[in-house]
Amino acid sequence: MANASPEQVNVNVPAEPTMIDFVDPATVSGLSTVTMTEGEGGNRFVHILYPRFESAPKLTELLHKEADRQLRAFKKATPADASAGHPELNVDWQLTAATDDVIGVRLRTGEFLGANWGNATRTFWYHEGRAVDSTDLVAGKGALSRLAVLVKAQLERERGSEIDHDELSDDAELFDSMAFNPDGDLIVEFDDCQVGPCSLGRVAVAVPEEQARPLLSAVGRDAQEAAQDAEPVAPVSAAKVTDTRGPAAVSSRAGSVDCAVAKCVALTFDDGPGPDTGRLLDLLDKENARATFFTVGSNAAISADVIKRMSEEGHLVANHSWSHRDLAKLPSSKITDSLGRTQDALTAAAGQTPTLVRPPYGATDSEVQAVAKRLGLALVNWDVDTFDWRDRNAKVVADRAVGKARRGSIILMHDVQRTSVDAVPDILNRLRGKGYTFVTVPELYGSAGMQAGRLYTSGP
Ligand code: ZN
Repeated sequence: MANASPEQVNVNVPAEPTMIDFVDPATVSGLSTVTMTEGEGGNRFVHILYPRFESAPKLTELLHKEADRQLRAFKKATPADASAGHPELNVDWQLTAATDDVIGVRLRTGEFLGANWGNATRTFWYHEGRAVDSTDLVAGKGALSRLAVLVKAQLERERGSEIDHDELSDDAELFDSMAFNPDGDLIVEFDDCQVGPCSLGRVAVAVPEEQARPLLSAVGRDAQEAAQDAEPVAPVSAAKVTDTRGPAAVSSRAGSVDCAVAKCVALTFDDGPGPDTGRLLDLLDKENARATFFTVGSNAAISADVIKRMSEEGHLVANHSWSHRDLAKLPSSKITDSLGRTQDALTAAAGQTPTLVRPPYGATDSEVQAVAKRLGLALVNWDVDTFDWRDRNAKVVADRAVGKARRGSIILMHDVQRTSVDAVPDILNRLRGKGYTFVTVPELYGSAGMQAGRLYTSGP
């Protein structure tokens, strides 16, 4: 590493050589996210998130193609009416590089087909107007074969008989997730069960910088340089979570409506912020209606301005986990990590600490409720489901919301669906015509309040 002072070396030395330092997406401009979902209320749980770069449409296209491929494979493997166990597909993302020269996106897939989680990663690169696979980091087929020999030898030294060495070839699929650590070593990651028994967990190799360098293509050299030049970011771990607290979140305009007197209804929007959330805020502002936003932490982290605006305009910002995994399938430590990281991101953006969580898919159990209680979060599901993720038709969504709303209803919608945002003027207009007032969820409960750890599905 060039010109590093001793302090920098200390900071940069990874605890484990195969760890990759990810770029903080909040520092990257022109970045938004795309959500593909089979939202709350279905039997199959699907949530796919990938980034969209204004400057790199070819990369967005490639990521979309990959998301679509994974979704189709998952659907093929799981019947739509699977009632037991809720098969789940969850894809989230990280940035392995983001400079003017090169962008790297690592898609992390968790798949649950009924028994265990399987994890896989795939890393895509963007360089000089082209979006490419990880294998393009090395210079052609010959270099890939030489890399395979190095990786095999290193795994033999490090993991010995744990690894199934017959599986290790120069098959491009084995090398679909590669990136660099801050020392410039080439990190080759394998999927669960790909080169050995599933019980091994993550298997990865760090090919030393000097061995990797002669194998690299132009993309690879720029990607390596980007990793070596990157500012180190402090890793986020469960232990670090939630010491940053603000005042408890309240709507800045709460208190003006008494739902014991007024006919109240709570509109709730999940999974954002997304590309249409700003337009939704304009619509709500115009009609002087308030709503509750259950936001996904990894989206909120790159849309702090939108979160701030929600809070400033009298809406309530609430927690919908970091990456929308079914929390009921996770151990307590991971539930805490997912909700706690989101609390931190939302508190930083909104200046208030959320008091509500909607568990992804509405799925909860005693463990999820215990963690929510510890974090000071009441759990909120719904009594009116618009199924807006399934019927992407503004009229159908509006009819459902209006037809099923009762006094005190909590109405479930998703602001990542353009058609749901399109439905909002009609919903506001027709419900107002029936005498409804639009409030945030806690206002439904008035002075009785809401208790952390308790599950609510509609107003009293
Ligand atoms: Zn959701």
